[in-house]
Parts: sequence; C-alpha cells; structure tokens
Amino acid sequence: TQNQTHPIFQLLFLFFLFLHISTKNPRKISSIFSATKHLISQMDDSQLNAFLQNPDTLFTNPSIPRVFDWEKNDMALNQDKPSSAMDEDEEESSVDSMLCDSNSRLIPFGFSKSNCTDEIMMFINAGGEALNEADSRMKFLGDSYFEGGNVMQTNEHIAEAGDCPFIYQSARFGSFCYRFNNFPPGDYFVDLHFAEIINTNGPKGMRVFNVYMQEEKVLSDFDIFSVVGANKPLQVDDLRVSVKEDGLIAMRFEGVIGSPIVCGICVRKAQNIPVPQASQEYLKCNNCAADIEVSSAQKKLMRTKVTDKYEKKIQELTTQCQLKTHECHEAWMSLTAANEQLEKVRMELDNKIFQTRTLDETVGKQAENLKNITSRYGHDKKYWAAAVHDLQEKIMIMKNEHAQLSHDAHACAESIPELNKMVTGIQALVAQSEDLKLKYSEEQAKRKELYNQIQETKGNIRVFCRCRPLSKEEISAGCALVVDFDAAKDGDLGILTGGSTKKTFKFDQVYTPKDNQVDVFADASPLVTSVLDGYNVCIFAYGQTGTGKTFTMEGTDQNRGVNYRTLEQLFQIAKERSETFMYNISVSVLEVYNEQIRDLLSTSPTSKRLEIKQSAEGFHHVPGIIEAKVDNIKEVWNVLQIGSNSRAVGSTNVNEHSSRSHCILHIMVKSKNLMTGDCTKSKLWLVDLAGSERLAKTDAQGERLKEAQNINKSLSALGDVIYALATKSSHIPYRNSKLTHLLQDSLGNIWVIQTVVVLKRVNSRGDSKTLMFVQISPSERDLSETLSSLNFATRVRGIELGPAKRQVDTSELQKMKTMLDKARQESRSKDESLRKLEESLQNLESKAKGRDQVYKTQQEKIKELECQLELKTSMQNQSEKQVSQLSDRLKGREEICTGLQQK
Ligand code: ADP
Ligand code: MG
Repeated sequence: TQNQTHPIFQLLFLFFLFLHISTKNPRKISSIFSATKHLISQMDDSQLNAFLQNPDTLFTNPSIPRVFDWEKNDMALNQDKPSSAMDEDEEESSVDSMLCDSNSRLIPFGFSKSNCTDEIMMFINAGGEALNEADSRMKFLGDSYFEGGNVMQTNEHIAEAGDCPFIYQSARFGSFCYRFNNFPPGDYFVDLHFAEIINTNGPKGMRVFNVYMQEEKVLSDFDIFSVVGANKPLQVDDLRVSVKEDGLIAMRFEGVIGSPIVCGICVRKAQNIPVPQASQEYLKCNNCAADIEVSSAQKKLMRTKVTDKYEKKIQELTTQCQLKTHECHEAWMSLTAANEQLEKVRMELDNKIFQTRTLDETVGKQAENLKNITSRYGHDKKYWAAAVHDLQEKIMIMKNEHAQLSHDAHACAESIPELNKMVTGIQALVAQSEDLKLKYSEEQAKRKELYNQIQETKGNIRVFCRCRPLSKEEISAGCALVVDFDAAKDGDLGILTGGSTKKTFKFDQVYTPKDNQVDVFADASPLVTSVLDGYNVCIFAYGQTGTGKTFTMEGTDQNRGVNYRTLEQLFQIAKERSETFMYNISVSVLEVYNEQIRDLLSTSPTSKRLEIKQSAEGFHHVPGIIEAKVDNIKEVWNVLQIGSNSRAVGSTNVNEHSSRSHCILHIMVKSKNLMTGDCTKSKLWLVDLAGSERLAKTDAQGERLKEAQNINKSLSALGDVIYALATKSSHIPYRNSKLTHLLQDSLGNIWVIQTVVVLKRVNSRGDSKTLMFVQISPSERDLSETLSSLNFATRVRGIELGPAKRQVDTSELQKMKTMLDKARQESRSKDESLRKLEESLQNLESKAKGRDQVYKTQQEKIKELECQLELKTSMQNQSEKQVSQLSDRLKGREEICTGLQQK
C-alpha cells in the first residue's frame, strides 16, 4: 500500500526487471509482471532501495520471498492453499484470485485419465478434430457448439501434456462462446483445458480474460502464461454448473487483455457433489481463537463486502495493469522491433559470417597464392638479381670498352691533324712524284732517243756472223778449217781461200764455234728492248743449209735459241715495266714457201691463199692469220711447238722442207704507257730463211727448180732491199718477193703511223732495226758457199770493207770511234742518272704507297672504331633500357608482394 504511492519506483523497477529478464527469458515477462505486484507490496523501503540499486537482489535476497518457483511449485498450485483464504491480509495467491469458485482448482499439467473418475458426458477438442482413443472409451468430439472465435494449431511440443497431448495443440481463440443443449437437468462438473500456445507465426501469448459459466463468472483475469508459462497445459477443474429445465450449458469467454483461448472442454456428470455446508459457518476469532458462528446471510454480506472491496481494488489494479500492460505492450513492441532488428542483425551477422568464411577461404587461397608468389618471387628475385648482376657486369665491361673506344677515338681524332699533315705530305709527295713522272717520261723519251741513237750508231742494219763447229762427220772425214777467228773480237773474220791467201770480212759481231746461244743472244737482246720501246725489228738467219740457222733461231730443248730467248726477255722486261707499261703480246707462226704464205698455227688445212694487204693506215698485214695471245713463256713454247709440228705436215723430209722455205715467227707487241696513256704497236720478225746454197743449173728440174728459183728470188730481193736501205736508196724493192713484201713495215726507216693512241694520234718516226745472222760452215768443203754467204752479208751490211778503205778512213774511223765512245759514255751516265731517277721515283712511289696504305688503314681503323663505338653505345643504351625495365618490373612485383603480404 505504501509502495503504491511511488509509481515512479514501480516504473523504474519494471523497466529494470524487464531489461533483466528480457535477456534471460522474454516469455516470462508477463508472469513476472503480475508477480511483481505482490513483490513490491511485500518490500519495505530498504529492500526497495536495495532492489533499485541492484535488480538481481530480487532473486538473490533470501529475505524476499519468491512468488513462484516454477521448477518446484508446479504441482497442484492451489492444493495446499485453503480455498477459503480470502482474507484482507492479501496473502492470497494471485493464482487463486483467478478462480471465482473456491471449489474449482488449477492443475498445471495435462489431462490424465486416471484422475478422471466421473462419467464424462462430452469432451470437446477445441480448435481440433474428433478423436477416438483406441484403447479406451475416451471420445473427443470435434470442435462444435461454438459461436465466434478462430482456430489455432501448433506442432510444437507441449510439455507435461498428460495422456492426450494433442488436446493442447489446438485451441479456439478470440471472442467466442459455447452452448451445449439437451443436457438432462442436474449438476455437472466442467473442466476447462488451457495452454498458452506460442506459435512461431501466431499471436504472442499475452492474454488475460474472464470466463462465464451460465452467465456467472468462474474465472477472473485468467492469465495462463503467468501460471504455467508457454506451451504448458493448465486445467481448471471442477467448475460446477447446474443445468435447468432448458438443458443448456452456456459458457462465455471474454477478453480483458488480448484474446481468450481454450483447448478443451470436458463436461462430467457430478456424482459426488459435496453436500453444501451448513448454512451455519464458523469463523475463528483472531484474538481469542474461538469459533464464531456466522450465519449464511452474514457470510453473504461479508462476501459481498469483500467482493466490493476487491472489485474496487481490482478496478484500480486493472487500471494500473492496463497502464502497465500498455507500457509492457510498448516495451514488448520495442522488444519485437529490437528482436526484428536483432534478427536482421543476425541475418547480417550470418551474412557477415558467410562473408567472413568466404573471405577466410579467399584469404587461405590468397595466402597459398602469396606463398607461391613469394617463393616464385624469391626465385625470380634471385634470377633477376643474377641477371641484373650480369647486366651490370656487362655494362661495366661495356663502359670500360666504351671508355677505351672513346679514348681510342680521341687518340684517333688527335692523330687526325698528324694524318692531315701526312696527307698534305703525301699530296706534296704525289705532286713531287707527278713532277718526277713527267721528268721521268721526258727522261725516258730522251733515253729512248739516246738508246736509239746508240743503236743507230751501231747501225740499224746489223750483221752478225756465226760459224758452226765442224760436225763429227766432217772431223772424221778430216775436213780442214778455212775460217780464221783471230780478229773475231773486232768483228773481223778471215777466210783462207786457198794457199796463204786470206780474205777478211767485217761484221758487227763474229761468233766462233765456241760461242754458245747465250753469247749470241746477249748481242741481240738490245733489239728486244727496242721492240718494247715501239720499234719494229727483223732478225734473220741466213746461210747455207746445215750451217746452224735453225739452231740459232729455234735451238734445241737444252740450248734454246733466239726465238725463245727473245720472247723470254720480252716477258721479263714487260714484267719489270708492269708498273708503268701494260703489254699485250701475241704470236703468229708463218711459212713462206714457193712465194706462198702458210699459217702454221692454223688447225685447218690450207684451203685459202693468204695474201698481204695494206690497211688504211698503211700497215701491211695478212688478213685471217692466227695471232695467238700469249701471257707467259710457257704458252710461247707451246705455240712454237705447234708451229714446228705443223711445218712437218705434208713433207716427207722435214730438214729438206725446212731448208726450202722461210720460217717466220711474228710477234706483235701492243703497249700502253700507264702514266701517259700512250699506246704503241710494234712487230718483231724472227726469220729462219731457206738455205742459201746455189743449186747447179743442171740439177734444177721441175719442183726443185721452182723452189730454187723462188728461194733465189726471195733471198736476192731481201738482199736488194736491205742493201737499198743501207745505202739509203730512194727506191726500195719490197714487192719483189713475198718475204720482203711481208716484212715491208719492219725493214727500213719508213715514215709510217706507228703509234695508235687512244686519246690522241701521234706520228712518230718508225725506225726499224734489222739483224742478220750469217751462218757459215768452217769446212773447206763448203768454202764456196761460205764465201757466197759472206759476200751477200757484206753487201747487205752496206759497207764494203777492204784494206784500202780501211786505211783511207782511219782518221774518220778514229773520229767516229771517239764520238761513239763519247756517246756511249754519255749514254751510260744518262742511263745511270736515269736509273737513279727511277730508283728515287720508285722509292718515292713506294713511300707514297706506304703512306697511302697507312692513311687508308688509319681511316679504316677510325671507321671501324666509330662503328664499334656506335654499336657499343646502342648496346649500352639497350641494356640500360633493359635494366630499367627489369627494375620497374621488380618494383612492381615487390609492390604486389607487399600488397599481398599486407592482405
Ligand atoms: P740449217 O738450219 O742451217 O740447215 P741446222 O741448224 O739444222 O742448220 O744445223 C745443222 C747441224 O749443225 C745441227 O745438227 C746442229 O745441231 C749443228 N750446229 C749448227 N750450229 C751449231 C753450233 N753453233 N754449235 C753446235 N752445233 C751446231
Ligand atoms: Mg734449218
């Protein structure tokens, strides 16, 4: 009563209690709520304070009695309590207060068959279907007889539901009533079965309601949850009802808070209705313990009073309760909202957990990946580190090389001035050499002229006399020698013509039988030089057959003759002059027999007659003749062999034939002065003449006569031509024979166009030089022929030598000799100076060449170095790029790794 004056306390208390319990068992809230009413009323101020400070004291403080101990006091809640405890001390249980009939009782568990001794009239399974128990006579009727309300069913387990738990799994709720008809008048017991069905989807079990039986209240503010909690059966048994004549049992369920609910209604025949107590009742006096008789009327009055008082109180409490219920409802609603939120949170949590799991898995995978990557990274790092190290080393080497190359290039660049100096020096040298060349050419021309002059002083027509040794045959025959070689050195040859008479012949050279091929050629060789200087030269071998013409000209394998040696020397000099001259040598081999020309190099037999023609330039040539180009002496020998072999064709006796024909080796020399560009063309004729012996007129017949005539004709023509030349006659009879006609260009001092120049035409004096070997036999048997040959040769030489003439011309001769000596000396000194000049030129040229070479090699080196430098620079750039790329990649990887590691 006192505490009711502090509604704020109550509110706070309820709030804390609610908070406290909602965390433990939210479904007990409503029962706690009704229970607190008692609790607060029992607390004194100190207890209340203590509770307010710590709400848990409500359950821990033993001084505060517990209203319900659900675990202990489940059984027969009101069994031990006297039903008549309707005292004003308010110790009456709130549970009992729900029962309006003191004879009725609350049973906190399900229907038990054994407890039911009365005859069951009917058993309604409210909200459910009719059921027959197979093993008993129990019969549950389906839900009928009702008016209004809804049906509720659950599959949830109903604890302690007795023998027939299914009753409690269905219920009727809402605003409804039941009406049973046709009951025989009399007294009956009605048992009501309740359960606060907590349906997960259904309404929450907050319900307080009244039950009226025959319009008399039998249950007031009935709250199932506060008694047994949710999903537990609660029976209200032994509600007495008397049926009148109309046979009707009506029961009405009326809600105070929420909707009423009922699971089963059992109507029993009341067999043992206790006899109503005597109208006289006794009350024990509180003071003296004496029984006070109370009449029924009195009792009624008291009850009415009590009822009034209680109703008043109930009214108040109902108001309060409604208030509290409202608050509670709000709290409940907020709790629901909180629950919903909680559910949401849970859902979110579930999601989060799921996400976390997924994340965990991902992280696991990532970790695995990371591990792999880390190991790979480690491996790669090592690899890259090694590569980078390698590259760095390479770069180092390259840098060194670069430095070296730079240094070299620098040195080269530095040496360039020196090179420039050298270049200027070389240029000066070149200019000098050009100058020298000019001088040299001039000198060369002078030399040529001088040489020619010397040759001329020797005579353009020279006659050498060669005497062969006695043959074995002659020796064995005891032939006497008719030749005197005492003055042979001076060119004098004596012939013992008989007895003591000696005829002397003068020649340019006289060769004794002891003189060999080398000695003979030594005097002929200057003419070879003349050929290379652009002069035409003719060398003849004249003489009687068997005197050694062929031996002198051709020679043997062991003793090569003039032909071979001439060509040999030509090639040698050509080789020596190869720096300044380029020579082109070709060879033809001809034969003149019976005034007919035959090409001995031709492979086809002579079908067409070869004729001598004169070209527009005035040259005489034989069109169609083979000119074999020869580059070396070996080729020459082959050609000579071919010619020699061809000569034998068509003749029975080679020697015989050869002695009747003129054998001609024709060498053409084309030269080009590499310095001036001048070109010359010269001819060299090497002629092995036919035998000069005279045939006795009587012997000459037929072919032999013809041969002899032709030989005579040609030899006399040759003699005439040479003589005319020697005596500088105005007419030279070249056309008298095929031989002289053929040799026209090369016999005598004729003005002919001798030089063909590529750029310019130069007319030069074509001096020809002629050498004749007069071959004689030393034997007395050949004396007449020898004398004939010597006479011919003397005539050819153009100087008739005789003792008288010699004398007369001594002073002149002396003069000539001194002049000749002088000229020779001059020539020698000129030659010497020329040689020196040539040498110095060669030296200069070789020096210039050497410098040129050095310059070239230096330039090549510079180029090479520059190339190398470029290459190295590009390579270095490339490798630097690579290194930067690699380090970038490395950085990227490190970043990825650190990110992964962070993850
Ligand atoms: P030709 O051609 O004038 O008829 P050959 O050249 O055929 O004369 O010579 C006749 C022979 O004399 C050959 O056997 C040759 O070897 C020999 N003969 C000629 N001249 C000499 C010489 N100077 N030394 C040695 N033997 C020679
Ligand atoms: Mg011969």
